Amino acid sequence: MSDDNQRWKDKYFASLEQQELLERRWEERLDLLRRGLVRSSLAAEGSDRSVDQCMQELREIIRGEQMDAGLAALIPRLEKAVLDSEQRRQQRIQQNVGALTALAQQLLRLELPREVRKPLKQFSRRIEERAGQSRELPALLAELSGLQHQALSHLGVTQEERPGLLQRLFGGRDETPAEPVPAVAAGPASAIVQPPVPLPVVADPVDTLAGDPPEASEPTPAPHQHSGTATLDSLPLAASMLLGEQAGDPAYALPAAEPGYSAIAPHVADSLRRLLDELELPAFHQAQADALRQRLEGGLNWYELVPALDDLAVLVLAVADGGQREFAGYLKQLNERLAAFLGSLSAAHEGYAGSLENARQLDHELREQVGELQQSVQDAVDLDSLKRSLESRLEGLLGRMAEYRRQHDSHEQEVRQRMQTLVERVAAMEQEANGFRERLEQQRQKSLVDPLTGLPNRAAWNERLELEVARRQRYGGELLLAVLDVDHFKRINDGFGHQAGDKVLKLIAGELARRLRKTDFIARFGGEEFVLLLPGTPPEGGRQVLDNLRQAIEACPFHFKGERVTITLSSGLASFTGDDSAEDVFERADQALYRAKDEGRNRVEVA
Ligand code: GH3
Ligand code: MG
Ligand code: MG
Repeated sequence: MSDDNQRWKDKYFASLEQQELLERRWEERLDLLRRGLVRSSLAAEGSDRSVDQCMQELREIIRGEQMDAGLAALIPRLEKAVLDSEQRRQQRIQQNVGALTALAQQLLRLELPREVRKPLKQFSRRIEERAGQSRELPALLAELSGLQHQALSHLGVTQEERPGLLQRLFGGRDETPAEPVPAVAAGPASAIVQPPVPLPVVADPVDTLAGDPPEASEPTPAPHQHSGTATLDSLPLAASMLLGEQAGDPAYALPAAEPGYSAIAPHVADSLRRLLDELELPAFHQAQADALRQRLEGGLNWYELVPALDDLAVLVLAVADGGQREFAGYLKQLNERLAAFLGSLSAAHEGYAGSLENARQLDHELREQVGELQQSVQDAVDLDSLKRSLESRLEGLLGRMAEYRRQHDSHEQEVRQRMQTLVERVAAMEQEANGFRERLEQQRQKSLVDPLTGLPNRAAWNERLELEVARRQRYGGELLLAVLDVDHFKRINDGFGHQAGDKVLKLIAGELARRLRKTDFIARFGGEEFVLLLPGTPPEGGRQVLDNLRQAIEACPFHFKGERVTITLSSGLASFTGDDSAEDVFERADQALYRAKDEGRNRVEVA
């Protein structure tokens, strides 16, 4: 029996061990199952509030003791929550499909080229199929954004045309989404471009613009009142609808107590209007303000709110900017006046260059004025006082310059008059001098002429002789010199009187001069003696000329007291040879003349 007992015991323990092993395995499986369920429930969380609630409960049940009873109670509720959630998901998908399709259709209503229209149509056709997958939504939106951008670019409307509100408030920022969803009203004249709406699918959908969806009474966003054609104003709505799974989910919607936009619209418009009235706008922005006021009077639809706020922001910035602008205008004016001042300064410097004392004084006064100008800039406590002070200083400065200018002008006038007088005086003196010169020349001419015969006198002879000798020395050639003397002239004087003698001298001079060539030269040497220069004449030619003269005088029919008197002359001729001086040749001619006298007179002797 003990063996049996032992066998039974062994069998019992063996089955007990097996039992324990089986239980341990079961526990392990159960544990795995629990962990799996907890993880699944955590993973499932976030898509639907009531499903989440069930999941939270599920996790508590799994951790608790009465799992079976808890699960039995939870599972039917969970099933219903999941079904409801799925139904809502389907609804959201339909809304997404609707919104995307509406957007694509709006774009297709625009006049677009084939290359833009075709991908848009393809996109439009595949919306329903793709929007079923929530993970496809970011891609769909990005694509639509790209297509819209192309379409609008084609229409000549870009986001850059008007910076967004944030951009206008804070300047350019780099963190704007790479592919913003352009929400644009493509109106022909007064197209209002909405600020770029951040792409709803980016990381944090809560930050995106969540428009208040239109209520049942409000129609689907109509074309913007400022635009004539299809608009994309509805994009904020579409964006909010597409904002992922929460936005359209009643469970995640704003509390029912929160009023819709239409309820607060009049109040918003009123507030904006009051704000607009408060603004002290520069005249430049008045028209813009009036236009905005008109829009506010008409009441604002929710989709008009953003552009209106945007425009208001611009006006607020313009007010803040106004002071700056006024100052800039003032500085510009100041600059122009300083330029005028500098112009006058350089003109004055030129004008005063002649007067050292004036220039010094001007310099001193200008330095003083500019010093005061600087001081007033340093002392100025505010813009207005600076402006007043600078204006009065500049006024003074320009006044001083004008005063100098006047002085300078009158001084210049005086100098000009003095100059004019001087010029006139100089001209008169010149004229006078010319007169003197003429008279001097006349006198000189007179001094060279013999008053009785009108022939060149001895002085003229000396001049001419010198000239002809120099010319011969330079160019060579023949030159003859002759001395002529009236024979027994004393007798004429003695016989018929001195006046008769004068008359004879006159007549002989005229006869001699008349018979000579232009290039020959005859002068009265003194008394009844004449001298002759024959350039370019050989000695024989010269002798012939003298003989002709002798014959002509001899032939002259002089009558004194009814008595015919023959008058003759004798002459001596000499020619220049080698380096003969005038004196040498004259001497030879004179000797020849004596010879002629000696040999009976009324003849020509050649040296
Ligand atoms: P010869 O033949 O030797 O020359 O005799 P001549 O009388 O001519 O010479 P002489 O030298 O002796 O006299 C010259 C006279 O000529 C002297 C002078 O009274 C006269 N005579 C000189 N000049 C003038 C003049 O201008 N008018 C007049 N009427 N006679 C003058
Ligand atoms: Mg004589
Ligand atoms: Mg004589």
